[in-house]
Amino acid sequence: MSKVAVVTGGTRGIGAAISVALKAAGYTVAANYAGNDEAAAQFTAKTGIKAYKWSVADYDACTAGLAKVEAELGPIAVLVNNAGITRDAMFHKMTPQQWKEVIDTNLSGVFNMTHPIWGGMRDRKFGRVINISSINGQKGQAGQANYSAAKAGDLGMTKALAQEGARAGITVNAICPGYIGTEMVRAIDEKVLKERIIPQIPVGRLGEPEEIARCVVFLASDDAGFITGSTISANGGQYFV
Ligand code: NDP
Repeated sequence: MSKVAVVTGGTRGIGAAISVALKAAGYTVAANYAGNDEAAAQFTAKTGIKAYKWSVADYDACTAGLAKVEAELGPIAVLVNNAGITRDAMFHKMTPQQWKEVIDTNLSGVFNMTHPIWGGMRDRKFGRVINISSINGQKGQAGQANYSAAKAGDLGMTKALAQEGARAGITVNAICPGYIGTEMVRAIDEKVLKERIIPQIPVGRLGEPEEIARCVVFLASDDAGFITGSTISANGGQYFV
């Protein structure tokens, strides 16, 4: 029987590439999303991967959604916490609402999704949790105090949970993508992209969603069983930790 993997924000962008790559690697995949029903329906029609709608920012919705996935597909072996949002503003202009929305989704979302299934992973003595953080959680980014704080928090949680899960056969790792050519990044003004962003990336190009997806497939695999509490920086050489 194939292992079950859940990917949050798994119907668009990097998450869609992760869902597809995990399916190709033999997992039964549940792709969670927040509200874009049209994109989710198109994704399911194209890939055959089932989409599940709930917000990772809502603990009760996560508990109910994960229970539904387990009832339909079986116990969850792999959790990819990929859902993320931005609400950018310079700090002096950032509203409490912008702060809260990003923390609720990008940081509390990881707690809300991981906590309800942690006990099951412990009981079964197997689990893979992979958190998609960001280069901006490692280096900080002006205009993204909320996002940088949340993504740095994800890295702290990754290391703490790695220690707690180790004896129970659960590995917890993070991936910090740099600029990846998703809709969000390609929507940036072409001139800004060419003149300001790409020149900061030593390999001279944006990353592809599939390049992040391949890191996830590796971290989920049995080959990665000795790797826990680690961060893979997939950023074209833009930042070293
Ligand atoms: P997209 O904006 O393309 O997709 C985001 C996905 O997350 C969508 O499927 C969206 O659902 C889902 N989502 C948003 N909020 C919630 C929520 N509350 N509950 C459930 N799902 C939610 O993002 P990217 O693919 O660009 O980014 C994916 C991850 O990678 C994020 O965590 C991001 O921070 C990180 N990242 C991205 C980089 C990049 O260059 N793109 C760089 C570094 C990190 P719906 O379709 O319903 O809106």
